[in-house]
Amino acid sequence: MSTLDIKTKTIWELLSERGRKVGVINDPCSYPALQVNGFLVCGMLWPGGEQPYTYPESLAAELEKAVPNYIVDVNLHNKEKIEIAKELFRSIDTRLQASLYLMKQHDWDLFWTVFTESDRAQHRLWAAWDKTHPRHADEPEELRTAVLDLYEKLDAAVGAILAEVEQETTVFIVSDHGFGPFYAAFDLPKWLLDEGYIVERGEKAFLKSALKKIGVFDEVASVYKAVRKPFEKEIAYGTNKFKSQEASTEDYFAKLDWSKTRAYYTLDGGIRINLKGREPYGIVSVEEAEELKEQIRSKLLEHKFPNGEPVFRYILTQQEAFNGPYSHFAPDLVVAINHTGYNGSLKGNKYLMPSNHNTGEHTPYGVFIACGKNIKQGQKVEGASLKDVAPTVLYHLNEPLTIEMDGRALTEIFTPEFSTKHPVERKGTSYRQPLSTEGEEMFEDEAVADKLRSLGYIQ
Ligand SMILES: [Zn+2]
Repeated sequence: MSTLDIKTKTIWELLSERGRKVGVINDPCSYPALQVNGFLVCGMLWPGGEQPYTYPESLAAELEKAVPNYIVDVNLHNKEKIEIAKELFRSIDTRLQASLYLMKQHDWDLFWTVFTESDRAQHRLWAAWDKTHPRHADEPEELRTAVLDLYEKLDAAVGAILAEVEQETTVFIVSDHGFGPFYAAFDLPKWLLDEGYIVERGEKAFLKSALKKIGVFDEVASVYKAVRKPFEKEIAYGTNKFKSQEASTEDYFAKLDWSKTRAYYTLDGGIRINLKGREPYGIVSVEEAEELKEQIRSKLLEHKFPNGEPVFRYILTQQEAFNGPYSHFAPDLVVAINHTGYNGSLKGNKYLMPSNHNTGEHTPYGVFIACGKNIKQGQKVEGASLKDVAPTVLYHLNEPLTIEMDGRALTEIFTPEFSTKHPVERKGTSYRQPLSTEGEEMFEDEAVADKLRSLGYIQ
């Protein structure tokens, strides 16, 4: 996964092409560094090593001179939790120094810096401070306050940045999600196989069905280890992590009988139908697909934790979850597991797995704070979404939103003096490539594409 997988222009590309100056530090998925009107420092998913991580490339040397040992992305791979915590603290220090330095040295209309350390810390260290987490007692004593200390450090970093910006500057503090405990995962690959949606080919599949009949199936299900590997282990770092996850999934998929497999899982935790005309060895007709999706959804929604709480928060179809010309790349079913539903023992449960290296997980609600000359004091924001952030920032810079942006400018947070003078406008496109040449390369047969289009599978 890289910058090139993002189909629409980021806010800094839009501003760059409109002649505005931008500075971007550590945005996830910003490698390879795109050319912008200003500068960009890559973050999460940078592959590491000698790969360039800045635009312009020469900026790296300048940055490393100003901030020796700058951490582009914290590498958690193969590290003890205490070492991870130390590294995260160091990372905040270097990110703050880099932010302060670049903010002063360069001109910008939008300066955007991302601290990913709170996310990493809560994934890995949540149970250390949460007394109610079943893994709490296993965590090192030294890490009891690590998450809270890290937030204090981040708060101080925000304070240090605020102290340096000019009075006139508007500041947005945004998180892209909240956090909560992670108690249990659901073994979707195993469930799909047991239910017969995934069918393995050859002797293995035969052996399995024979063993299933005589009741020793679960003891010898070693193949699942390969399936689960991408979900359980921190395999590598940066983009290499995704590559190795993809490779082990591909290895497993190569063992499947695609002439019998009706639905399979995706690396982002969703389910795809083996749809005729769309998937390389598709067997499910579009008419059957509708029924199949409903069947899978209703079966999964029946799953309950031992305390009666539902295992899934929701399951949406692709059409319910997404729109736009690239939505057919998404899973056909988007599956949201209720990670916090139950914190008791999962012993003996076939599909529920206890939390492993991650004891914290994302929750839907994040933070949105705005302050500055044009911002109303004390105004509460209701019903805002992550999709509203870029439109709101563009609006504040007197720039039109693009035609396709889903979100809205949160005009209610601005003073009447500002908002009455600035109507919301939409102009130009978000797409990087003309739609006629991209997005439908997977549909070679135009007739099939037409049919899928008429049924809403593609747009
Ligand atoms: Zn995260």
